[in-house]
Amino acid sequence: MSKKDNKAIPRLGKQPPRYRFFLNPYQYSRFSTCPQCSNKMGQRKLPLFIHIHPNQPLVLNKTCRYCPHCDLLIAHKNDLEDLITKIFPDLDPETVSHQYLVVGTVDRADWKRIDQNQLPVQATIEALHDFREVVTFTPVGGWVI
Ligand SMILES: [Zn+2]
Repeated sequence: MSKKDNKAIPRLGKQPPRYRFFLNPYQYSRFSTCPQCSNKMGQRKLPLFIHIHPNQPLVLNKTCRYCPHCDLLIAHKNDLEDLITKIFPDLDPETVSHQYLVVGTVDRADWKRIDQNQLPVQATIEALHDFREVVTFTPVGGWVI
């Protein structure tokens, strides 16, 4: 087994990592253009794999922004948290941002299988593609990575 693959982020999923991911905390920036290359961003609806503290996986089929040039996927934090607090009403909306982590994506076919058969956590992890990289952009006279 090669060591170079597990330096920064420990891999959870069994599938090859994909996408660079940005969880957008800026409610008023919806990123119709890419913060990195300024091209128009597309939309991509795909199942996001979310880890809810302490030990609850959640797969949400969600429309995200996607830039094919940068392989950059953007989800809006407030949209996600609205959904998460609806599904888990026990989570305190004030602290919910510390109680989940978007880990990666799942293929649609796998997501349907998981959803219909209520497969156990282990099967979900088998189908999980971690993100290749998690990035953050900051607004400093334009967007800076
Ligand atoms: Zn781009």
